[in-house]
Amino acid sequence: MVSAQVVWSKALPVIQEEVTPITYQTWIKDIRPISIEGEALILMAQNELYLSTLRRFYTTVITDCVNKANNSNYTVSFIIREEEPIVSVPVQNSSEQGVFFGVQSKYTFDTFVIGESNRFAHAAAVAVADNPASAYNPLYIYGGSGLGKTHILHAIGNYVHELHPEFNICFVSSEDFTNDVIAAIKYDTREELRRKYRNLDLLLIDDIQFIGGKEATEMEFFNTFNALHNANKQIVITSDQSPKDLPLLQDRLKTRFSWGITADIKPPDIETRIAILKGKAERDNFNISNDALLYMAEQYSANVRELESCYNRVVLYADFSKRSAIDRAFVETILKDYVSPEGKHMLTPDLIKQVTADYFGITVDDLVSTRRDKRIAVPRHIAMYLCRTLTNTSYPDIGKAFGGKHYSTVMYACDQIATEIGQRPDISTAIDDITNRLTNDFTV
Ligand code: ADP
Ligand code: MG
Repeated sequence: MVSAQVVWSKALPVIQEEVTPITYQTWIKDIRPISIEGEALILMAQNELYLSTLRRFYTTVITDCVNKANNSNYTVSFIIREEEPIVSVPVQNSSEQGVFFGVQSKYTFDTFVIGESNRFAHAAAVAVADNPASAYNPLYIYGGSGLGKTHILHAIGNYVHELHPEFNICFVSSEDFTNDVIAAIKYDTREELRRKYRNLDLLLIDDIQFIGGKEATEMEFFNTFNALHNANKQIVITSDQSPKDLPLLQDRLKTRFSWGITADIKPPDIETRIAILKGKAERDNFNISNDALLYMAEQYSANVRELESCYNRVVLYADFSKRSAIDRAFVETILKDYVSPEGKHMLTPDLIKQVTADYFGITVDDLVSTRRDKRIAVPRHIAMYLCRTLTNTSYPDIGKAFGGKHYSTVMYACDQIATEIGQRPDISTAIDDITNRLTNDFTV
C-alpha cells in the first residue's frame, strides 16, 4: 500500500501550482501527512486555527490536487494532534437499561469448551466478567486465527449484560472503530464519537492489530483507553499477537495493554476438538458417531473455525440426503473429492455463501450483513456472482439469500465482478479457488 507520505509528496507540487505563493507558505507547507485509513488521506494541521481554515477553504483544492497527482480517489480529512488531559467521566449511577451494542447473543460461556489450550484465557475472562474493572484491566487475549478469541469477547459481553443490565456495553471490531473515527473526522462529529465510546462500562474491542499504523485511529483509541481506564471502566482487547509483538502499534499503547493481564490461546488438543464437535452436535440435535467425530477432529487441528466449517458441511450434506445418523464412512465421503452424477445441481446459495465465507476467513453473517468495508463487501460480491453463475437462482432470490438485498444491488455486484475478473488477478484467483472447492469438494 502506498504511504501517506508518498501520496502527499506527489500532491505538494501540484497544489503549489494551484494556489498563490502566500497561501502555500501560510497554510499548505506545514501540513503533515499522517496515514491512509480506508479511503481517507489523513493530514495533520498545526492547531485549531489551521484546522478550521483548511477544512473551510482548502479541502476541495487539496483533494483535487491529491487525486490528480496520484491518479486516485481519496477523500481528505484533517486532524490536529490532541493529547487530551485525563479527566474522569462522571460516574452515572442509574438503574436504567444501559446501551448494549455489537454483542452477538449466540457466543456465550455456555457454548465455549474449555481445554488446556484456553483454560487460562477462559478463567481470566470469567474473572473479568464477574468483576468488571476490578479484576484485571485491561484483559488482553491473543492467539492465532479461529481459536475462540471473538467468541470469548462476546461471551464476556453477554455475561456482564445479564448481571448488569444497566451497564453500557459495546463490542466493536477494530475495523468498525477505525471507520467510526474516519467518519467522525470527516463529518466533524468527534463529540458523538466520544459520547459513544467514553460512556461505556465495558468496551470489547476485537483484533486490535488492525489499528496499527493508522495514526488518527490509534490516537483516538489511546485517548478512549485513557478515559475509560481512568474512570475505572473495563476494557477487553483481542489480538493475533502479544502486546510486545504488535509490529505497528505505538509503544505507549503496548505499555498500556500490559497493565492488566495478558492471556494467550493455543490450538486445542484433540479431546477439546472432539468436545467442541460434540457440543455442536448436541445443540443441533444431530446423531454423529464417536468415530465420525474423531475423524473430523483429526483432520483439523490448528483452527476451530475450520473444524466448524467441516462440521457444517457434514451436517449440510446429512440434511440434503435426509440422514439422521452420521457415521465415519459418511464423513469420509463428504470430506473427500466426491462428485455426483447430478453435477452442478446440488450447488445452492447456502453452500456458496459458506464456502466463500470460509475462503475469506469471515462468517456467513458478515457476508449477508450490510457492512460495506472491503474485507466483507468484496467476498459478498464474489459470492453473489458465483450464485448467479453456478446455480439457476434469479437476481431477486439471490438478494433474498443475502439478507434481503434489492435485486439491483445483486445485478450491480455481478456486473462489477464480471468486469474485475479480467482486471484483477486477486479476484480471478479467488473465484477459481472457490469454484474448485465447490465443484471438487462439495458436489454430490
Ligand atoms: P478467533 O476470533 O480467535 O479467530 P472465533 O472466536 O471467531 O476465533 O472462533 C471461531 C469459531 O470457533 C467460532 O464459531 C467459535 O464459536 C468456535 N470456537 C472456537 N473456540 C471454541 C471453543 N473453545 N469452544 C467452542 N467453540 C469454539
Ligand atoms: Mg476473531
